[in-house]
Amino acid sequence: MKKIVVVGAGIVGICTAYFLQKSGFKVTIIDKEDPGTMTSYGHACTFADYASVPVNSPSLFRQIPSMLFKKDSPLAVDFFYVIKHLPWAIKFLNNCRKDKVEEISKSLANFLKHAQLSYDEIFEEVKVSEYIKNEENIYLFDSKKSYDDYKYATLMRKRNNVEVLELNKKEIYDLEPNLAPVFYSGQLFVGSRHTTNPLAISKKIFDIFLFNGGKYIKENVKNVLQKENCVEVFLENKQVEFDEMILCAGAWSNNIANMVGENFPLDTERGYHVLFETEQQLINRPIAWSESGFYLIQIDDGVRAAGTVEIAGLTKPPNKKRTQMIENQSRKLLPQLGKVKSTWMGRRPTLPDAKPIIGRSINNKNIFYAFGHQHIGWTLAAVTGKVIDSLVKESSTNIDISSFHPSRFR
Ligand SMILES: Cc1cc2nc3c(=O)[nH]c(=O)nc-3n(C[C@H](O)[C@H](O)[C@H](O)COP(=O)(O)OP(=O)(O)OC[C@H]3O[C@@H](n4cnc5c(N)ncnc54)[C@H](O)[C@@H]3O)c2cc1C
Repeated sequence: MKKIVVVGAGIVGICTAYFLQKSGFKVTIIDKEDPGTMTSYGHACTFADYASVPVNSPSLFRQIPSMLFKKDSPLAVDFFYVIKHLPWAIKFLNNCRKDKVEEISKSLANFLKHAQLSYDEIFEEVKVSEYIKNEENIYLFDSKKSYDDYKYATLMRKRNNVEVLELNKKEIYDLEPNLAPVFYSGQLFVGSRHTTNPLAISKKIFDIFLFNGGKYIKENVKNVLQKENCVEVFLENKQVEFDEMILCAGAWSNNIANMVGENFPLDTERGYHVLFETEQQLINRPIAWSESGFYLIQIDDGVRAAGTVEIAGLTKPPNKKRTQMIENQSRKLLPQLGKVKSTWMGRRPTLPDAKPIIGRSINNKNIFYAFGHQHIGWTLAAVTGKVIDSLVKESSTNIDISSFHPSRFR
C-alpha cells in the first residue's frame, strides 16, 4: 500500500489522514506543533453548514471606509502590510463583484452540503457526542441598518437552500434570556450545530488514527522535493520519502508550496478570541453579533467570544486592541460574563476568492493540496478529507470540487 504523508495536524490534516488510513494507506502526519493546537483550536466552534456567503461582497466597497474607522469594527487593517501585499487586496476586491460572489457562494454551498454527513462518518467510530450540541446558531443584528445591509447575504443563503428563521426580540429572549436588550432582531440557522471543545474532538480523531497504526512526527518541514515517482520531505536531521504528500498546513501552506516551485495568493485573516469565566450556563447556543463580527459560545471551560478579521499577515504579534474590543462588546451583550481567563489569536488561511485549494498539484504529480478554508475550515475539514481520499484513490465522487482546483491561479 502507498505511503502517504500529511503535512499539518490541524483539523483539515487530521480528518484527511483519518480517511486515507480508512482506505488502507500507510499514513504519517508531520506537524511542528501538537495536533489541533493552531487555528483549529481557538475558533468559534460552529459547524457552519449555512456559511456559504463569503466575506467578499458587492457592498464591501461601500462599507470598508466606515468599517476601517469605526470603533468596535469587525475589521482591522495594518495599512503598511496591505500596501506591501497590494496584489492580494486587489484580487480580493475583484472577487467582490456580484457575479463572482454568487459563483463563490454557490460552489461553497455545494461543498458545505456534504460537510455534516462526512463528519458523521467519522463520528460513527470516534465518539464525541459529549462535545457536540444541537442548539442552533443565531445571528443578532444591532440595528435595522445592519439587518438591511445583510439582506443580500440572507437572500443568497436562501437561494442555496439554507433554512433561515427570522427572529423578533421576544423570540430571541425566549431562546436566550440572559442577553442584554441591545439588539434589533435576529436569525436562526435551522439544523446547525456546534462543539463545546474543538481541541478534544481533534485529539480524539487523532488518537484513533494513532491507535489504528498511523504515525506522527513532531517536526518542522524544512524542504520538500518532488522526485521522479515520490516526494522527499526534509526535517531537522533526516529526510523521509513518501509515495504522495498532502499539504494541509493552513495559513502556512504557501511557504511549503514555494519549496516545490508553486505560488498561491494565500494570505491570512487573523481572528481572536477572549475566554471569560462563568459559574453557570449563560447561553445555550453560538450567538453572532453583527456590530463587531464575533460569536459568543458557551464551551467546556467558560464563554468564548471568537471572531473578527484583521489583515496584518502571519508574523506580527497579536494586537491587544482587538481583544479589548471583543471584551467590551461581549460585556455589552452579556453583562453577566466573569473575568477574562485568556486571549488567543488564530490565522485563517484565505485565498482572495474565499475558496479552498483542493486537488493534485499541476507541477508536482505526487503532491495534493488541501488548504485555504478561511472562515469555515472547522466545518469543511471532514468533507475535504473525504475528497482528498477519493483523489488519491482516483475514484469518482459525487462531490463537485472543480472550482477549488489549484490551476485557477495560474
Ligand atoms: C477567530 C476564528 C473563528 C473561527 N470560527 C470558525 C467556526 O466557527 N467554524 C468554522 O468552520 N471555522 C472557523 N474558523 C476557521 C477555522 O478555524 C480554520 O479554517 C481551520 O481551523 C483551518 O484548519 P487547518 O487545519 O487548515 O489549519 P491549522 O489548524 O492552522 O493547522 C495547520 C497546521 O500546519 C502546521 N504547519 C504549518 N507549517 C508547517 C511546517 N513547515 N512544518 C510542520 N507543520 C507545519 C501548523 O503547525 C498547524 O498545526 C475560525 C477561525 C478563527 C481564527
